[in-house]
Parts: sequence; C-alpha cells; structure tokens
Amino acid sequence: MDQETIAAIATPIGSGGIGIIRISGSDALPITERIFTARNACNDATPSKDPSDLPVHSLESHRLYLGVITDPANQRILDEVLLAIMRAPRSYTREDCVEIQAHSGAVVLNAILGLVLRQGARLARPGEFTMRAFLNGRIDLTQAEAVADVIHAKTERALEVATTQIQGHLGETIDALRILIKDALTEVEAGIDFPDEVGDAIDVHRLNVNLRENVIVPLRDLLRHYRDGHVFRDGLQMALIGRTNVGKSSLMNRLLKKNRVIVTETPGTTRDAIDDAMSIRGIPVVLTDTAGIRDSSDTIEQIGMERTRQIMDNAQLVLFVLDATEPIGQEEIDLIEGLSDKSIILVLNKIDLVSGRAAAVIPSRIRSMPRVEISALYNQGIDALKDLIAESTVGSETMASPNALIPNLRHQIAIQQAVRELESGCNAAEEGVPMELVAIHLKEALEATGSIVGVTTTEDVLDDIFSKFCIGK
Ligand code: GDP
Repeated sequence: MDQETIAAIATPIGSGGIGIIRISGSDALPITERIFTARNACNDATPSKDPSDLPVHSLESHRLYLGVITDPANQRILDEVLLAIMRAPRSYTREDCVEIQAHSGAVVLNAILGLVLRQGARLARPGEFTMRAFLNGRIDLTQAEAVADVIHAKTERALEVATTQIQGHLGETIDALRILIKDALTEVEAGIDFPDEVGDAIDVHRLNVNLRENVIVPLRDLLRHYRDGHVFRDGLQMALIGRTNVGKSSLMNRLLKKNRVIVTETPGTTRDAIDDAMSIRGIPVVLTDTAGIRDSSDTIEQIGMERTRQIMDNAQLVLFVLDATEPIGQEEIDLIEGLSDKSIILVLNKIDLVSGRAAAVIPSRIRSMPRVEISALYNQGIDALKDLIAESTVGSETMASPNALIPNLRHQIAIQQAVRELESGCNAAEEGVPMELVAIHLKEALEATGSIVGVTTTEDVLDDIFSKFCIGK
C-alpha cells in the first residue's frame, strides 16, 4: 500500500472564515512538529519555542490546539491556526491525521499547503483520503461512495439516501447475503471433494429454496429499490414540450419558484441545466433544453420533429403541455403517440379559462395517459402535477420509506449479474448437471456481490470511483 503522506486543502478555495488543510500518513506528525508551535495556554502570539511550548508529540489526540504555523527555513509565521491531531487508527483514514484550521484565503491556504509539501508530503489525489479509509478497512466501498453522494446531494431526500448508505446498511445487507452464498458454495464444494461422504447427501431442493428465497428475493428487492429510487441520487431529466403559447414558460416559472435547488457546476452540465434545476418532492429535477424551445419562435413545425424528438429522447419524463381552451391538434396527437415508450404526463393548462364550459376533449387514443389539469398562471393543480411527477418516477413504496436502501448504477449492474449467476446455478443444480458447474455460478455471484462492497473490486473501478471525488476528501 502507498505509504506516502498526503496533504490537501479540504475546504473550497475562497475568502471565508476558516480553511482547512488536511494531512494523512506516517509523516503527518513529524511534519507538524517542524511547522507548528502550540501556544501553552498563554496568549502570546510569538512562537518562542520556550519550554512552555507544547511539543507536538505531547499533544493529545482529537483536541484543538491554538498555535502558529512557521516556515522553519526563515522563521516566518504564515498564520495563527487551530490544529487537531487524530492519531491512528482513530482517524478518517486510520492513519495519523492532522487538520490545520487556518484563515480561509487562497494565498494563506496555498502558503501553508506549500510548506507542508516542502516538508515531505505529496498533494493528495481526488478522493484519496476516503480511498485510504476504504483500503485501511474503516469503511466498505458502498460507504465510500456514499461520502461522495452526501457531498453532491441536491435535495434533502438525496441526502437521506446517502446518509443511510454511509451508515453501512447497504454493505451489511450485501455482506449477509454473501455469507449465505458462501455457505451454499461450501456445501457444493464439499460434495465435489468428498462425493462418497457428502455427494449424495446434498439436498438440491433445499439448497435452491434457500438461495432463491433468502438471496435472490432480497437481491431483487434491491433492484426494485434502484429502479424506484435512484432518481433521488441521480436526478430526473424532464422536458417540457408543447405548442407556442400553451404556457410552457409560465409552468416552468411556476415549478421553479421556491423549488430551485443548489447545484454545483460539474463538467458536462450546461448553464441551462444548472439554471433550471429544482426539487420536486425531493427529486432533483433538471428541465432540459427548454430554454432553446422558448428562444425560438416555437411552433412544433419550426422546431422540427428532429429537434423535438432529440429533446424528448434525452428526457426520462416528458410533460406535454396542452392548451385546455383549444382543440388538440392532430400533430400533437401524433407526437404524443410517438412517445409511447416514454414516461409522459399530459398537462392541460389554462384550466382557469374553461370554468363553466368543457375543456379540450382528449382523444381516445391518448386518454389512458396520466393527465392533470392546471393553471400555471393562477397556481391551480400544481401540487397534483408534482404528485404525478413523483408517482410516475418513484414507486410509492420507496417514496414512503425514507430509509430504503437504494443501490447506485454500479451496484445495480453487479446485483443483476449476481442474480443471473444464482439463477443459472439453481437451474443447473435442478437439471442435475455436474456440481462443479453449479460451484462456478456461485463463485461468480460471490465475485459480483463482492465488487459492491469492495472485496473483489478491480483497481480500475476503484480509480474510477475515487476520481469523481474532490481533492481533500
Ligand atoms: P409558451 O409559449 O408555451 O412558453 O407559453 P407562455 O408561458 O409564454 O404563455 C403564453 C400566454 O399564455 C401568456 O400570455 C401567459 O400569460 C398565458 N398563460 C399561461 N398559462 C396560463 C394559464 O394557466 N391561464 C391563463 N389564463 N393564461 C395562461
């Protein structure tokens, strides 16, 4: 394992109250010894190195000490700081860790970091502190991933999902299932190794019932939770489509009002998407590319089928806005019908104008689609629309259970593979094929589930996971 001592600025660069420099590794304390002078209770700002100064090795773990950071090359004081030592193994990384709370400004933080690096640490890579916490066995891979989810959570519900996972519940669930797979494998292998003693005694029926009921069913539950709940973490791409003047902009403004979420700029996210991100029932929703539609003098003909289709293809949910005061055009019906493979909600707007007379008749061909009547202008039906958006996206069971374990895409792929292998194993056992083949399927299922918690994960996958973190985490 990489034993180098790493350091990074752990807080966003910019003017602020406090900025934190983090150091982890076996040299963290010797480096600190050379640059930090703790003030011994007295209030004197001068780093005198007099006998009343506390040597770093005598400082208690997990306590804050006031002192100064001094460059030993020229005795220049860089800042007055609070410093905490967290001795191994009781630290984030399980290594000796030091956190220096300095004043937050780009120059001062970089000066202190530069000094730490000159003393022998190297700059940490993105996510390297968390990667060490994982490699040193303090957390499993699902917990490490949840750290990133907490940081990137855009709604409170997304944060709940992440904090449930950071507690390790998903990892524990997978570990418990892996024990059952291992037990089955042990039994099968004993049958292979000692065919005379054990071979005939293997009760294939019991083995399969155990695997199916106690392993495959819970794995399938997790897959269902992924399907229903992953939007809390991953967000929902939603498109507003409709003819000019049906009220798309009005609806967008209505939805954005008070629901805007704070988003950070990440590569690949367009300005429009950032501007139009909002929270609907805890789901981070991004309205894609509607600005483009608004800017053009937009009849559906002018936008062109091609472009409309492109927008709709990228969306996971389409709000098709119709004007309740006007007959629904053939062109609209064709477009809606062409979207049959999409999640779509028909939004009948301007319902305030039709009181006392019938709203536009919904043709029978599209009548079975989820539909809601609203007035974007007068704020009617907006709550019902939000409920429908949540219902169309998230299963009601997941919506209702805040502590549901919701795997991420990487977990989902591994779980699917494990389920396939387990089913193949059970079928093979039933068909009476040699138990060696059954064992291979069980091993593959162990491998797949092991990659979720990080026991069988390849280095490439680990690099990929941690490269998405920020430096200093
Ligand atoms: P867009 O072209 O689809 O984006 O439509 P706009 O949002 O610009 O709205 C077109 C016109 O319809 C504007 O004059 C809006 O004030 C009006 N409008 C939008 N929604 C409603 C509504 O719910 N009721 C009424 N009465 N007028 C609306």
